Parts: sequence; structure tokens; C-alpha cells
Amino acid sequence: MADWWKNLYRAISTVFQGLLVTLRVWKSTYDSSRKTFTEHFEYPELPARVAPRYRGFHRFDVTTCIGCDQCAKACPVDCIYIGKERVENGKGFRLTHFTIDYTKCMFCALCVEPCPVDCIFMGGTLDLSSYSRDGALVDYSRLPIDVAWGRATLNPTAVAESKAVLFPVHGGPSQPEG
Ligand code: SF4
Ligand code: SF4
Repeated sequence: MADWWKNLYRAISTVFQGLLVTLRVWKSTYDSSRKTFTEHFEYPELPARVAPRYRGFHRFDVTTCIGCDQCAKACPVDCIYIGKERVENGKGFRLTHFTIDYTKCMFCALCVEPCPVDCIFMGGTLDLSSYSRDGALVDYSRLPIDVAWGRATLNPTAVAESKAVLFPVHGGPSQPEG
């Protein structure tokens, strides 16, 4: 019985805690001293600041990925498309494609957890505009490695240029010799 009362108290108090947050934020929208977004940030000239655990466009290391499909299997909307081929004279697979369809992705990060080699993360990039749906299909195996891994910002120009890249940037058996 004591547990029942404790759970009831916890349920009611957490609902009120949540409502207090809503009330505080709602009240702040009527604060006349509140700065506008552009007074806080110089976006798009400078990237907008994001929280440390923000879930933006992915960061992906094509050189580490072993093509195990765990991320694609975990994705609830099936928006990760992986192409791979067997490594000749060796073990495992080499990637030929690693495409994420951002018209479907909902940035849930469920693809990050199962990766056995930690080569996919949610990044801090929040914008990737394009004039066509094709621009929202990002093949990370065709992007420059520093862009795909998040050392340089993922941007529409890099994505557009990656569409003309015929082979994965990491080289290997998928590329023609010579
Ligand atoms: S963030 Fe979620 S929806 Fe997007 S690719 Fe990963 S698992 Fe799929
Ligand atoms: S889970 Fe990791 S290693 Fe496996 S295919 Fe996905 S990104 Fe590559």
C-alpha cells in the first residue's frame, strides 16, 4: 500500500514539475527584454550553437565501418542503405555505399547504439537544404572523409559534389586500378 501512495505522489509531482517548465517557458515568451534569435546567433553566417548531445546529421567514419548492417537493422524507418562487397584475400566486407535518406530519417539515434566499432554518431550539423529530394540522400562513402566524420561541416555543396564521385573515397577493390 505504501508503494501505491509513493507511486501516486511521484506521478502527480512529476506532472506538476513538467507543467512548471511549460509555464516558465510560456511566461518568458512575454518577456519584453528577451533578445531575438538573430541577436543571440549570427546564423546562417555562423553556425547556430547546439547542445552537446544534440542529434543532428550523422558523423560517419567510412574507414572503420565493417558493413555489419547492425545500424540499418536498428533503424525504425529503414532509411540506411548499405552496399558492400567481400574483401578479396581477406576477411569481412568493404563498403560500396552507405546512404542515409534524410527525407525519412527522424534523428532518433537508434542506429548509433548497436555499432560494434563506434563509427556512426549523431553530429552537430542542423541544416542541409537542397532544391530536390536527391540532395537529401547522402552517401557517406562518397563524401570527403573529414566532412563525413564531422571535422568539416556537412554542407549542401559537399553533398552535391559527392553525387559525381563514382567510387567510395576509401579506395580498395571497388576502385578501378591505375
Ligand atoms: S537516426 Fe533513427 S531514423 Fe535516422 S538513420 Fe538513425 S535509426 Fe534511422
Ligand atoms: S553498425 Fe557500424 S560498422 Fe555496422 S554497418 Fe553500421 S556503421 Fe558500419
